[in-house]
Amino acid sequence: MATTTKQVIYIESKPCTKKAKTKKRWLSPSSINAYMRCPRNFYYSKIAKLKQKPSIYLIRGIAVHNAIEKFYKHKINQCGDMDYSTLRKIVTELIRDEWLVQKKSIRKLDLKKDELCLFIQESKNMMFNFLHDFIKDKGFEKRAPVIEKTFFSKKHMLLGRIDAIYNNRDPPLLVDFKTCKSKEVSDDYKRQLGIYALLYEEHFHTRAKVAIHFLKFEDGFKKFRISDKYIEKIKTIVADIHDRTQSDNIDEYPCTCGWCDKNFETKTNSKNEPNR
Ligand SMILES: [Zn+2]
Repeated sequence: MATTTKQVIYIESKPCTKKAKTKKRWLSPSSINAYMRCPRNFYYSKIAKLKQKPSIYLIRGIAVHNAIEKFYKHKINQCGDMDYSTLRKIVTELIRDEWLVQKKSIRKLDLKKDELCLFIQESKNMMFNFLHDFIKDKGFEKRAPVIEKTFFSKKHMLLGRIDAIYNNRDPPLLVDFKTCKSKEVSDDYKRQLGIYALLYEEHFHTRAKVAIHFLKFEDGFKKFRISDKYIEKIKTIVADIHDRTQSDNIDEYPCTCGWCDKNFETKTNSKNEPNR
């Protein structure tokens, strides 16, 4: 049976007799990438916990991820006797329902109707690409992946939520779904996959393969092997960012991107809040 509930795994390190002198925050692929893009971005999102302004890209990403989760939750993966046109109808309904859930957030964006329709159509095509790949991979005959599972490593104060985990493959496979417009595997994505492999290995003592499914493309499934060297590099990056993010003082997090004040709902750019 598919395990679709969000699960949490704690990886405990050995009990520490000495009290830690330094304050460490939990880091995730998104917070690490935020810091590497711009320290101020990290400060706003992870320390000040300001809300990022919503975007249609974010909303579409959530809708598609949730629709895939529902595909397994409703056990569509066990309906191998259904014809293709029925399956297409089902995934269309799954994504349509998710857009309806997001209605309130979409309204705030003030998009033109045509623009919104384009995003909805694109997300429908993404679901077809997902379905196409599922069938090509003989998904009906295989055990369902574990969907959206969060791993925690206390040792590295690191966490990551993995979209789909195929534990029964040799080697196991960790998949991240992307709804972006390019198939380019950026450094951000590489780090994210490296972190997933590191977290998985700490828990299961085995090196998983990792993959990105670029859902905008028909042949968007890309697999990668993570080397020992890259795992070590990730550990160094994580330790380094822990060292650099101990302070709560905004001045130690300069903006290097020039966009932070526009992307976050800060007091200085909020119309409703006077500057003090
Ligand atoms: Zn910035």
